[in-house]
Amino acid sequence: MPAISKVFIPAQDDAIAQAILGEEKRQAEGLELIASENYVSPAVLEALGTVFTNKYSEGYPGNRYYGGQTYTDVVESLAIERAKQLFGAEHVNVQPHSGAPANIAAYFAILEPGDTVLGMDLAHGGHLTHGHPVTYIAKLFKFIRYKTTEEGSIDYEEIERLAREHKPKLILVGYSAYSREIDYARVKKIADEVGALTMADIAHIAGLIAAGLMNNPVPLFDIVTTTTHKTLRGPRGGMIMCKAALAKKTDKSVFPGFQGGPHENTITAKAIAFAEALKPEFKEYGKQIMKNAKVLEKELRELGYKLMFGGTDNHLLLIDVSGKNATGKEAEKALDKAGITVNKNMIPNDPRSPMDPSGIRIGTPAMTTRGMKEPEMVKVAKWIDRAILAKNDEAELAKIKDEVKELCKGFPVPGIK
Ligand SMILES: *Cc1c(COP(=O)(O)O)cnc(C)c1O
Repeated sequence: MPAISKVFIPAQDDAIAQAILGEEKRQAEGLELIASENYVSPAVLEALGTVFTNKYSEGYPGNRYYGGQTYTDVVESLAIERAKQLFGAEHVNVQPHSGAPANIAAYFAILEPGDTVLGMDLAHGGHLTHGHPVTYIAKLFKFIRYKTTEEGSIDYEEIERLAREHKPKLILVGYSAYSREIDYARVKKIADEVGALTMADIAHIAGLIAAGLMNNPVPLFDIVTTTTHKTLRGPRGGMIMCKAALAKKTDKSVFPGFQGGPHENTITAKAIAFAEALKPEFKEYGKQIMKNAKVLEKELRELGYKLMFGGTDNHLLLIDVSGKNATGKEAEKALDKAGITVNKNMIPNDPRSPMDPSGIRIGTPAMTTRGMKEPEMVKVAKWIDRAILAKNDEAELAKIKDEVKELCKGFPVPGIK
């Protein structure tokens, strides 16, 4: 039975203490398969709760609007230096509060309202912030969307055709549900031909790129955005990397263009996470994430699931569950009851709707952080299948939940007592 990992909160706020304890138990006893989630290290967790949260530090190291910046400058400069080293970036801004604000700030660093952007369709793996009609950003820029091919890969020929036709100011790559490698050089060549700038959003795969296991767009592209909390395993936050020529525009766009004071406690945690990612152990972690994803791919395929994009080159799998007489929503719900957290997800050319699509998305970063390897993945695939098939059988789902809990006992979550 986990005990709350806090001292002061239980002493003064029981309702919140209970909720924290509940969440700690949930994270410890369940299997986290949401591809965008991870468990940060105890040091990263500790950094988030430091006195840096008290400090206003608008501006950048060495050039701030308020006094008292001796130590904020130290942590922010270290975060920047470490990120540069990690990705080979010419310039880094570590202030974006999260991935979506990083993207908005990046757009405004290089675009004028009304400009045309070529980005991937959400249903084919793109992100909301890549111009989905529900976002404000879609009202400001003209988004043209490319898709994936029937075989499942990015349709580079369509990018080429649409680029020639629409002459976009920016070509955007980088996705939330796409499981294959990206040919940045090919996109850069198309962009150069039509005079477009290039932007990559590596939010999902930043950790695998940092570990040297996937292609790195940073040396090639004009501007690259990322979250720091997915495979990179840092605090919830964002970051922008760009060419030196865009440094001023990018910094101005983040502050004062879009945000106010940076969250220096989060930036401290980013600096710590980047140092962790520079260690050889992080490369091993990345390799295991990918090995685990490959085992899930093989096992689920053998169990009769259709994997979108033909499989995986990274940490995630987009799975069509319609062949198992289930919808994505039903699968998500059944798996939740079985102690396995996933998210329903649209599949390419999905005949269903976003709130009840045909697929689920799963990923291995969080399980891998707990130390789970190939033998555990075989079990996980079997549980996924059993839970989806037993979607209306409460007893069977409860039984799986107990089995999941038992396995999880052997793989503690960092930072939870
Ligand atoms: C997660 C994600 C984002 C948004 O990040 P938030 O931190 O949720 O704002 C942006 N782009 C891509 C590709 C993502 O996967």
